[in-house]
Amino acid sequence: ADFIVADDLDTLVTRMNALTPDAPVRPDHIRAQIEARDGQLDNPFGKDAQITAIRGARAYRGDRLIRTAKPHAILDPANGPLIAVRLNILTRKSLGGLHSDLQGRVLTPEGTVLPGLYAAGEVCGFGGGGYHGYNALEGTFLGGCLYSGRLAGQNA
Ligand SMILES: Cc1cc2nc3c(=O)[nH]c(=O)nc-3n(C[C@H](O)[C@H](O)[C@H](O)COP(=O)(O)OP(=O)(O)OC[C@H]3O[C@@H](n4cnc5c(N)ncnc54)[C@H](O)[C@@H]3O)c2cc1C
Repeated sequence: ADFIVADDLDTLVTRMNALTPDAPVRPDHIRAQIEARDGQLDNPFGKDAQITAIRGARAYRGDRLIRTAKPHAILDPANGPLIAVRLNILTRKSLGGLHSDLQGRVLTPEGTVLPGLYAAGEVCGFGGGGYHGYNALEGTFLGGCLYSGRLAGQNA
């Protein structure tokens, strides 16, 4: 229900606007942006930040070997069809919410222990809880969730 596939941009945008009539996009605006981007593709000295970043990433040999879709002109029919995806907003990370100590005990705003309340997982904040020091590294949350759950359970 969130995907629209069309062979040309006008059809795509018309159907996008039918799907989200409360947030319509302008066909001329979309076309101008894509044409500007496509126009930079054949220019090795182009200023399009996204294409520059893609070129930088693809200079890495490992990426050159495994990437299957080479950068190409979006509006070239040979590369079609065009696909639009309706985005839905979700909470990606809460990064905490409850201040807790290393035993999983929830602390009051004054920093004293709130008796009987424990927190585990992302809600206890891997930065604030101290499991990750002062930061939270991408891809390392589940370990902290399990570890904080174990500690909170043991201490409870
Ligand atoms: C897209 C995405 C990709 C991720 N990728 C990785 C990854 O590659 N590696 C990694 O380590 N971590 C990753 N994470 C982070 C990791 O998934 C989360 O940190 C972890 O799942 C949090 O687990 P949790 O049990 O603490 O909280 P949650 O899984 O959020 O569980 C909280 C639960 O509480 C329920 N709840 C909320 N309010 C109430 C209420 N009032 N009453 C009853 N229930 C309630 C919710 O429905 C939910 O089921 C990713 C997260 C996201 C969103």
